[in-house]
Amino acid sequence: MKKISVLVPCYNEEQSLPLLLPELKKLMDGDMAHEWEVLFVNDGSHDGTLDLLRQYRSQDERINYVSLTRNFGKEAAMLAGFDYVTGDCMVIIDADLQDPPELIPEMIKWWEQGYEDVYARRKSRGRESWLRKSLSMMFYRMLQQSSRFDVLKNVGDFRLLDRRCINALKRMRESERYTKGMFSWIGFKKKEIEFDRGDRHAGKSSWNYGQLFSLAIDGITSFSTLPLRISTIAGFFVSMLALIYMLVVFFRALIWGNPVEGYPSLLVIMLFLGGIQLLSLGIIGEYIGRIYNETKNRPDYLVDEHNNEKV
Ligand code: UDP
Ligand code: MG
Repeated sequence: MKKISVLVPCYNEEQSLPLLLPELKKLMDGDMAHEWEVLFVNDGSHDGTLDLLRQYRSQDERINYVSLTRNFGKEAAMLAGFDYVTGDCMVIIDADLQDPPELIPEMIKWWEQGYEDVYARRKSRGRESWLRKSLSMMFYRMLQQSSRFDVLKNVGDFRLLDRRCINALKRMRESERYTKGMFSWIGFKKKEIEFDRGDRHAGKSSWNYGQLFSLAIDGITSFSTLPLRISTIAGFFVSMLALIYMLVVFFRALIWGNPVEGYPSLLVIMLFLGGIQLLSLGIIGEYIGRIYNETKNRPDYLVDEHNNEKV
């Protein structure tokens, strides 16, 4: 009998878990053809999430949990999940019921037909502000143009992955993680299904605009060096313009002499160049910062507790 794991990263989800658990139980009880396992990863919640998980575990052996020592972020929490799931395949689902568990049987159906990565594409994004929607569209377009593989629009982490994909993902131990890009990067046989993304049932989204912005930067810098290329090209064009302007100034001085003038244009050019230089330095800095973090080679997460045992 094949085993299916459900991976749920949780950060302060004490309000959502009591809603999610019955749904998962219904699913597991309704499908006797497979063995089931649910793995909750408690990503350093400050509320009663861990107590709930301990309680669930004591009531049902199919429920497992891993509790991290602090909040490491969803990307690291998912990696912890990849390391601890034992199934032949794994479904990653958010704790807040924005990803409908009803879709899981359909994913399993496709998996049994040989697809190794069945991902769900959102037809609608639920209640989100216009600004948030258009910013995320812009980000996807940028990312797509700067990398060699397909980056999927409106596809989140809600998906089913075969054991082979899990093993591939486990080999990617980089500390600057952008898991959504990794799903595409690993390849394998993919199948898309569609769903309507609902609104969060309880609690609130832990992402603010600042975090989303840095996620976007992480996404681009971890899969592409295009920004570096752009600053090279910009530098090249600015130098060409400067050369042309130099010739203009030179010949003008030869023909009409050299009256002292042009203070405003001088200032504008200096400021412009200064700006470009700072921007390029910033871009280089982004990459160096990542190299720095990567070379420290720290573990991506630390586990505090696994199924009622301290680790
Ligand atoms: N999450 C996590 N660690 C974090 C932030 C979020 O494990 O630092 C989990 C959270 O509990 C939820 C999922 O990641 O199950 C998605 O989080 P959220 O709903 O806040 O994000 P959104 O739906 O807005 O993308
Ligand atoms: Mg959510």
